[in-house]
Amino acid sequence: MSRYIGPSCRLCRREGTKLYLKGDRCFTDKCPVEKKKTPPGQHGTKRTKLSDYGVQLREKQKLKRYYAMQEKQFRSTFNKVASRKGKTGDLLLQSLELRLDSVLRKMGVGVSQNSARQIATHNHVLINGKRCNIPSRLLKVGDKITFKNSILSIPSVVGALETAKKENHSVPAWLNWDIHNLSAEVVAIPQRDEIHIPVREQLVVELYSK
Ligand code: SF4
Repeated sequence: MSRYIGPSCRLCRREGTKLYLKGDRCFTDKCPVEKKKTPPGQHGTKRTKLSDYGVQLREKQKLKRYYAMQEKQFRSTFNKVASRKGKTGDLLLQSLELRLDSVLRKMGVGVSQNSARQIATHNHVLINGKRCNIPSRLLKVGDKITFKNSILSIPSVVGALETAKKENHSVPAWLNWDIHNLSAEVVAIPQRDEIHIPVREQLVVELYSK
């Protein structure tokens, strides 16, 4: 399936929750989710009761859209964690959080998942001193992220960093981020209570386990 190129806000309205796909705008009162509580489209106002399958599908779509992934990529991430020991839902969220693009988004270098992905693919990132341009790269505890000087030639990144400094941007405890020296280290595996996504991951596991 091809990548969705329509309006991002429509995806949030469809899922009925903020997915933070547009950077700063998501934190203002211009966010359409705040204004319109109904799903998009001419039948959006109609009340429909979802089946169990429908509820599971919506949770999966919500998670997939939050991380701006395509179905094949998302399913493949699920299949990898499903074969590991442990609670599949938690492992899935950890894998999604530890993707390079997700970590760049957490750091505030990319204002959205898509902009973080673009920064990764454009060869500005070094992992443990080696160039890495794979946004889906899974980071491990101890991995160090630094940047080439070229990153400071991107106006959107410079702007995002300035805002992050001004607003004292906070990152989760599993990530050690020195915004002044532009270096970060993954110091622990993210735990469920540190992942603030309004999703019931167990329903995603049930959907894919059918
Ligand atoms: Fe649009 Fe961001 Fe609001 Fe989603 S959270 S509807 S992307 S402004």
